[in-house]
Amino acid sequence: MKKFKKMLALGLALAMGLSLVACGDKKEESKDEGSSKDKIVFGTNAEFPPFEYVAANGVIGEYDGIDMAIAKKIAEDNNMDVEINNMEFDSLLLALDNGQADAVIAGMTVTDERKESYDFSIPYYTATQVMIVKEDSDIQKASDMDGTRIVVIQGYTGETCVKEMGYKYEAFKKGTEAVLELVNGKCDVVVIDSATAEKFVGDNKGLKIVEDKDAFAAEEYAIAVKKGNTELLNKINASVQKLLDDGTIANLSAEYLDKDTDDTATGDAE
Ligand code: GLN
Repeated sequence: MKKFKKMLALGLALAMGLSLVACGDKKEESKDEGSSKDKIVFGTNAEFPPFEYVAANGVIGEYDGIDMAIAKKIAEDNNMDVEINNMEFDSLLLALDNGQADAVIAGMTVTDERKESYDFSIPYYTATQVMIVKEDSDIQKASDMDGTRIVVIQGYTGETCVKEMGYKYEAFKKGTEAVLELVNGKCDVVVIDSATAEKFVGDNKGLKIVEDKDAFAAEEYAIAVKKGNTELLNKINASVQKLLDDGTIANLSAEYLDKDTDDTATGDAE
């Protein structure tokens, strides 16, 4: 009993001591929530394997993929904590303006239009749009899409390409939804980025990829920051350059293209 009282007293003293410290220095307290490191918040849309998708054991919490591994390394290089803010692709760049993200890493293609309002890092990956069709499809080049039922993903560069070609199309919010339309025979072709197309074709039977290098230009993926945020951009660039030079990004790409990312087909981010 005596011992218990002693412990209680000790506990109380400790608690009081702690609360005194906590009250005494509010600034320290809020900064010290778990870590005193700076934090970088990356916005992404985890619907884009092998770059970002939801998995049981991701590199950053439930988020896995090439981009997520790169984000983690950028944070490590700069001694920062890392957090992922998963949202719709269409909202990503706006999130830079309203402070919901410090940087966007989402297999995002650098385009002139996007560059007008946001700054981009040095590119870290080259891709192109391709067409996913049923194995028995007659579509062999982009112009064969004329008059077929085309599906794109809303806000992706694939949508811009098809729009510029002047074809009618339907836009879906997620790549998985678009591919499901194709699998179910409700559309004839899905236009989407090459590496992601490979993943979807690998995960679903009866589909194939058709390329048309003349119709779809090469695209470069880069990390976006708010216009004028050169301080962060310089940090990101230094890290990306290092990861390119030492082969890390090439290795990650090979690793994740090989990896079973099938979690994505069912792993809804919401
Ligand atoms: N690369 C395409 C774009 O930038 C698609 C990116 C994505 O879906 N994450 O629009």
